[in-house]
Amino acid sequence: MDTMDQKRAAISERSRTILIVEDSLSYRKLLRDYLSQDNRYTYTILETGTGAEGLKQYRIAKPDAILLDYLLPDMNGLEFLQALQQQIKKPDLPVVLLTQYEQENLEAQAIESGAQQYLSKSEITTENLRLSLHNAIKQGELLRQVAALKLENSQHIKALNQHEEQLRLALASAQMGIWDWNLLTGKVQWNREHEELFNLEPGSFDGSYEAFDQCIHPDDRANVHQAVIQSIESHSSLCHQYRIIWADGSIHWIETRGEAFLNNAQEPIRTVGTVVNIDKRHQAQQLLQTQLDQQRLVLDMTVRIRRSLDLSEILKTTVEEVRQFLQIERAIVYKFAPDGTGTVIVESVSAGWEEILHTEQIYDPCGEASIKDFQQGFVIANSDIYSGEIDDLHLQFLENVQIMANLVVPIFTGDELWGLLIAHHCSAPRQWQVSEIDLVKQLASQVSIAIQQSDLFTQAQQELTQRKQAEMTLQLLNTELKQRRAVEKLKDEFIGIVSHELRTPLTSMQGSLGLLAMGLMDDEPEQMKQMIEIASIETERLVRMVNNILDLDKLDADADVLQPEWCDAPTLIQQAMSAMIGSAAAAGVDLAIDCPPIQIWVAPDRIVQTLTNLLGNALKFSPQNSMVSISVEVIDDLSELSQTQTSLVRFDSAQSNTNFSRQIRFAVRDYGRGIPADKLETIFNRFEQVDASDSRDKGGTGLGLAICKSIVEQHQGRIWVESLWGQGSTFFFTLPQPMQETALVLGTLEKQTYCIDRY
Ligand code: ADP
Repeated sequence: MDTMDQKRAAISERSRTILIVEDSLSYRKLLRDYLSQDNRYTYTILETGTGAEGLKQYRIAKPDAILLDYLLPDMNGLEFLQALQQQIKKPDLPVVLLTQYEQENLEAQAIESGAQQYLSKSEITTENLRLSLHNAIKQGELLRQVAALKLENSQHIKALNQHEEQLRLALASAQMGIWDWNLLTGKVQWNREHEELFNLEPGSFDGSYEAFDQCIHPDDRANVHQAVIQSIESHSSLCHQYRIIWADGSIHWIETRGEAFLNNAQEPIRTVGTVVNIDKRHQAQQLLQTQLDQQRLVLDMTVRIRRSLDLSEILKTTVEEVRQFLQIERAIVYKFAPDGTGTVIVESVSAGWEEILHTEQIYDPCGEASIKDFQQGFVIANSDIYSGEIDDLHLQFLENVQIMANLVVPIFTGDELWGLLIAHHCSAPRQWQVSEIDLVKQLASQVSIAIQQSDLFTQAQQELTQRKQAEMTLQLLNTELKQRRAVEKLKDEFIGIVSHELRTPLTSMQGSLGLLAMGLMDDEPEQMKQMIEIASIETERLVRMVNNILDLDKLDADADVLQPEWCDAPTLIQQAMSAMIGSAAAAGVDLAIDCPPIQIWVAPDRIVQTLTNLLGNALKFSPQNSMVSISVEVIDDLSELSQTQTSLVRFDSAQSNTNFSRQIRFAVRDYGRGIPADKLETIFNRFEQVDASDSRDKGGTGLGLAICKSIVEQHQGRIWVESLWGQGSTFFFTLPQPMQETALVLGTLEKQTYCIDRY
């Protein structure tokens, strides 16, 4: 309030409006005079001579007080007071009643009727009139204030009651309990809802923490205690979920929230909170979790089925998962045979429970439903085999395999009933949940997909195998055809060459013998002898050639599979040398051997034959007084060996898997004519010769090197020639050797000095 307002308030406090209800004009004047003498207040005076007019004036002007004459022409003072009270509906009236004479009980009646003051006209003075008016006004004001306060108070109380009721209703409708733990006294207070939530009789909770603790599930007690203590100690809000056990043994979930309150010293003195039942929320969460787990399981199975084509693996996984997910003692897959019988093909069983797979136990799920029922998609979800719906015989049968409750779901492939996916609960009866039945059904559908997928795969495999077989047969036929054609061609060529090669000596023989037959030489015995010699030489050549052809044919026909054995290399060389000593002497050529005393794994006759052939050729083309040598070397470089691997392996089966670590290299050297570069490869072909005259002059057949090549290749070796025209030739051939034996033999022998023999 500023000073102006304060001034105005002070003025209004000092000015008063007074209504005088008095029929005597002189007395009214007297009252005015008294009032005008009161210099503490400024009075505005309203006047009237009748009660009715007075009541009207009061209604209009609302004066601060009324000076009321007891005797009015139209009513007395008490009647006026009653009428005024009705009009302004207030028990207290700022009225000073003026009486002219003593009247018994009038004062009490006036006060009772609401008048504040009572004055006898004869005793009126300025001072007591002022005081009476002041008191009447002040009392009225006070009474009004008290009445206002009373009203306000009652409104507050009403509002508080209302709030309390609302809170109670809210707590009741929210089924929320309240607890209040006084930490100083240890006393715990619960409201009624709290007791209801804990299934206790109203008023039965004794207010101790121990009584609360007793209601909590034993597994949750420590956690609850810890959560409450932590909230108190850390001055933080409490929010915790726990289980309680009702008197009937049922378990319920509770969520509590609370707050600790501290004193001025920041010490906790009480903690207050709420409890609500969260069974539904918990059930919903659990249901959601179960559904999620189920979905995950089905998805997992779907992925496995997509990835795998191994049906037995999928079936095994399925029964394992079903058993673990449903927490049952046994899960099986039962497969129907075309004749309607069936067998358990996969089983997953908990330890300690009877197995029915691979045992004497016969299991037939068709006691509770027929195959026809299953064909129509019938599912058995039997919660208790003793429910009375199973006949005694089948009941006995179920008891034998320890079944208490079972869930049987058909497995289809297309429209065909393939088998059953079965869950056995053996420890107790079991109420199967809809979600559980759905899960097993979904898994049965996945199994069905897996079966069809596996069938398709098997079918495809079979078709593929058949196709491959057909392709192979076709290929074989083709190869055979090609080979036959090649053989035919070779034969034609061979016959051409052979007939040509045979014709040469035959023509020569025919000529000589013809001349003899005609008797043209009869007189010339010397010439006759010459003719007979020519015929004899050509016959020998013919025989040699026929033998060589037969030999080659034998080698090629694979009729003579090599029979290798451990042989002494120098001995083999000496055998070959011995056979050629005569020819060497005739040719005037020296022979030399350079060979370590080693053992080699070869077919001895064939190697002697090869060496003899090569020696024979060397001698044929060597000049007099020259030398032909055979040397042998051990070679560790396997790169050379790898080239030979491409050649045909014709060792017998005992050696077909031999690992070769080294090879022996033979070299037959001469210092004769040599071989031109363009013939170095071709001379190993049949009937190939450097010069057409070679067969005539040297008596060759052109088959020797072809035979050597064949023998060496059958040893998995390689043969080649290095030569400089006019300077001589060296024929090499290698023979791979088995690993350990060679190593052993060579390991001891390599260190010895090579022997060089000359003949
Ligand atoms: P042949 O019976 O004709 O000797 P081969 O197959 O043994 O048949 O030899 C084929 C040809 O290779 C020979 O006719 C000859 O032309 C040539 N030849 C073989 N060995 C030698 C050699 N050491 N020196 C020169 N030429 C050779």
